Amino acid sequence: MPSATPAATLLWGGWVVTGTGVYRADLLIEGERITHIGNLPKDRWQPTWHIEDVRGCFILPGTIDLHVHTRDPAKPPVYATRFSETRSALAGGITTILDMPNTHPPVTTPEVFEQKWQRWNRQPLWCNWALFPALIDDHLEEMLEWAQHDPRVPGLKIFLAPSTGGLVLHDWTHLNTVFQRYAGLLVVHAEDPRYFGEKPTYAWDYPKWRTRTACYRATQWLAHLYLQHRPDSASAAYTLPHVHILHVSTAEEVFLYRRLPSFVRQHFTLETCPHYLWFAAEDFYWLGKRLWCNPAIKQREDQQVLRYALANHLIYTVGSDHAPHPVESKTLKEEAPAGIPGVRTLLLILLEGVTRRWWTLTDVVQWTAEHPARLLRLSDRGVLRAGAFADLVIVDRHPTAGNTLSYTCGWHPYANYVFTWRIRTVWVNGQRAYHLGRWLVPAGKPLRFPKP
Ligand SMILES: [Zn+2]
Repeated sequence: MPSATPAATLLWGGWVVTGTGVYRADLLIEGERITHIGNLPKDRWQPTWHIEDVRGCFILPGTIDLHVHTRDPAKPPVYATRFSETRSALAGGITTILDMPNTHPPVTTPEVFEQKWQRWNRQPLWCNWALFPALIDDHLEEMLEWAQHDPRVPGLKIFLAPSTGGLVLHDWTHLNTVFQRYAGLLVVHAEDPRYFGEKPTYAWDYPKWRTRTACYRATQWLAHLYLQHRPDSASAAYTLPHVHILHVSTAEEVFLYRRLPSFVRQHFTLETCPHYLWFAAEDFYWLGKRLWCNPAIKQREDQQVLRYALANHLIYTVGSDHAPHPVESKTLKEEAPAGIPGVRTLLLILLEGVTRRWWTLTDVVQWTAEHPARLLRLSDRGVLRAGAFADLVIVDRHPTAGNTLSYTCGWHPYANYVFTWRIRTVWVNGQRAYHLGRWLVPAGKPLRFPKP
């Protein structure tokens, strides 16, 4: 196998998975893009093509993970960097990450965004990337204006409750200004701190502090804003922001969403994360503070409802909420930071759901690629079709032991599981970037987003 990517590569004999179906097709990659999908008989093969035999494998669009905390730049000591975390993401089948703004210093102004963007752009990273700035009470109008015009800005992150980094929009009446002035994407950490309980004494008390009511109240408030700001005409509806609620963890939020009028649901979508689908409150008894994350992992019933909501198209995307806290800090006696590493297992867990017949491969492609691309208005990523960027992941049915998946932070909570799928090869911008445990080339690029 040549290490440099040839001018054209034919992925021959695989199963192509899109958001609408799975079919047998050959896929031709030339330069950065896919140039053909369909049957290519051998008599049409060119001698210059490199032919890669992918019989028995499935080809999916590369995952677009809207929710990653690389913590780069971080306050020392540094446990993870943009290099280490995009490297881990690539091995998990992720071809694009969006990094969250609770880095150091926090990204709350265009100037800090510029510094962080330049830092990230210094050397090529292992996958494509973009950075979310945060909206806080200061500089509100300036931020709204700037975010709508700078093509490097995918949208704005809002924290309604403190999490790692302490970035909070305290005055919720500011959201009225946002609804009047801003028509872009808002990704929201929705917990209402007024409904937090007592700080936990034991690891398993965590959901009694970060309560389910806190989640429900904040999500309900955001949905309600659409009813308050309902425009008179259909054309005016396009001046409203799109709110994407991150890491939904409770059954109540799903039931609330199911009851919302379709006008609201056009502008309002939900994300959940693999750890809410995989773990439940009883797992605190053996994993302890390692499972602390915000919002807290809830009950077994919530997990069942979240799986149901995904399979029934009530949840729009799945993000990792990857947070590389070192294992030493997660096992401290007193406080432990909230967050779980997850970029290497995001896709493996969703594929595990296919094995267990919770959902289908086409569903997984919708949540991990097509829907995130739609939220970001990216027309030539997140899809497998001629003309789109060749960001793709090739997977097959082969056991992957959780304890073989490593991170620089030294741990992850899935080490005791064996997954039934394997991430075989990952292509980024037409380059074969990862293959069976080997990282070949950092081919990631910063993304730009079309603005209205
Ligand atoms: Zn997060």
